[in-house]
Amino acid sequence: MAEAFKLGIVVPCYNEEEVLPETTKELTRILSGLVNDDKITNDSKIIFVDDGSKDKTWSMIDEFSQENNFVSGVKLSRNFGHQGALLAGVTSATKSSDAIVTIDADLQDDVNAIPKMVDKFIEGNEVVYGVRNNRDTDSAFKRSTAEGFYKFMGWLGVKLVPDSADFRLMSKRASEVLLSYKETNLFLRGIVPMVGFKSAKVYYARKERFAGTSKYPLRKMLKFAMDGITSFSIVPIKMIMGLGFFIVLISIALLIYTIVQKIHGNVVTGWSSMMISIWALGGVQLICISVIGEYVGKIFSEVKNRPRFTIERDIYTEKTLKEEK
Ligand code: UDP
Ligand code: MG
Repeated sequence: MAEAFKLGIVVPCYNEEEVLPETTKELTRILSGLVNDDKITNDSKIIFVDDGSKDKTWSMIDEFSQENNFVSGVKLSRNFGHQGALLAGVTSATKSSDAIVTIDADLQDDVNAIPKMVDKFIEGNEVVYGVRNNRDTDSAFKRSTAEGFYKFMGWLGVKLVPDSADFRLMSKRASEVLLSYKETNLFLRGIVPMVGFKSAKVYYARKERFAGTSKYPLRKMLKFAMDGITSFSIVPIKMIMGLGFFIVLISIALLIYTIVQKIHGNVVTGWSSMMISIWALGGVQLICISVIGEYVGKIFSEVKNRPRFTIERDIYTEKTLKEEK
């Protein structure tokens, strides 16, 4: 029997007061089970990351952490977004956990997959992906956009694990490598496969949100997808070049056509052809400039190198220090 290790479960929370009691109960059940099986130590922790919630999320986390030894939390100074919250939690957890699990607060990810991830970790895998084996709970729209996104990313040459979101286990070592990627626009799903090491997958059925509403409206989803594409690939810029050559070729063909017509004595008249080309080319150029602008914007935000999150209070570290004494 391998020696028990310390597990940290990172849970980003943004206005999740409706689900927190249930999530705490479920995760506590999972942790107790793993402690009883001597797989993890009893100082293992749930680390709720309050991502600047406007409801009672933080006061609940604070309260639960006083009555439940498994519960701890990190409070961010404002809303930094899902990825920032994950990163903050992983940063704290990595300091003193042997393995870190990240999971959403809304119980859409099946907590019962965590013991399976732990087993894979004990077998020597350093990254264990939670892969959903159904998308029934998603709207047809979300399903088809997600599928299109993974296809497009694959076509751009970005390695993603399809149907895996931010539900996964990472060893301390893998987490440290992950944290050494310093980009501001962090797209975790794309970075994790780049970390390398031995990895495994655990399949689970993704459920409906337990309560509350999605914190990922379409606007955020689009930004997320755009971030994913432009932080991993410059293929869109290369496509512009291809498009440029294509348009030049067409204009050469048109030029030859008009010259040939002229030789035959036909003057090519054409108000419509001129207007169409002006507008069409103008549109194409604007699109191209905006693609480049997207990258320039990315450079702008990377160069500023602003902190990706700011911690206001870290109950996890407070508790860990107390326990170590
Ligand atoms: N979340 C967060 N900050 C945000 C938005 C979301 O920490 O700005 C958390 C949220 O509390 C949840 C997870 O990220 O635990 C996933 O969000 P949600 O369930 O709303 O997304 P969906 O499952 O609908 O894609
Ligand atoms: Mg959700």
